[in-house]
Amino acid sequence: MSIKENLLEIKDKISKAEEKAGREPGSVKLMAVSKLHSLEEVQEAVNCGQLLFGENRVQEAEKKFSALYEQNPNKKIELHIIGQLQTNKVKNAVKIASCIESVDRYSLLEEIEKQCTKIDKVINILFEIHTGEESKSGFTSEEELLKALSACEAGVFPHICPKGFMTMAPFIEDEKLIRQSFTTLRELAQKLQKCFNKLDLSELSMGMSGDFELAIEEGSTLVRIGTSIFGQRDYTNK
Ligand SMILES: *Cc1c(COP(=O)(O)O)cnc(C)c1O
Repeated sequence: MSIKENLLEIKDKISKAEEKAGREPGSVKLMAVSKLHSLEEVQEAVNCGQLLFGENRVQEAEKKFSALYEQNPNKKIELHIIGQLQTNKVKNAVKIASCIESVDRYSLLEEIEKQCTKIDKVINILFEIHTGEESKSGFTSEEELLKALSACEAGVFPHICPKGFMTMAPFIEDEKLIRQSFTTLRELAQKLQKCFNKLDLSELSMGMSGDFELAIEEGSTLVRIGTSIFGQRDYTNK
């Protein structure tokens, strides 16, 4: 199937999942995760009207998206960084992305603030939360997360705009555990929104090709879909 057909099919499934969950139509955004796919494939998705993308390696994203922005000067293409971010990659990440979804430690906020100050840019971020046993990424200490949220609310990072939370469900078959991971994120988000009511923490980035319908049932506002749009990734020659 073509990228165009895949996009149509996914959007249809998202609509149906929204309806099934009693959610407002259009309340779930679709991100096309283009890691390990070519500029040509991403351009094809843009031609079909897809404007929100996700990449997890900064170097790869930089190459692809600087070309893509140049090729489409009149389109509002947006890129989110969704992979674990090394401190020394922040400088280049904030140049090309509108949001860093993988903020998993306090020190990353300090570096993002520093680099955004240099280029006079305000960037959106999500706090990545560790919700499943298998995955390694995300804040693991609630104390550090609270420190990060407190600092954001107190205005310590004027170039950073927190939008909510992101998680990766464990890569397992057990639907109960996957759902549990999404429920954990939603409940944590609700709790933290009450504590930090000056911030708008309404974004819940959860759900991938294999589990997005479940994530929508559990309150996802943003699903990150790679394989079901672009096909299998080829890890061999990268
Ligand atoms: C690769 C990736 C995705 C997309 O995964 P698919 O299973 O291909 O849809 C989503 N989120 C993150 C953080 C990823 O790294």
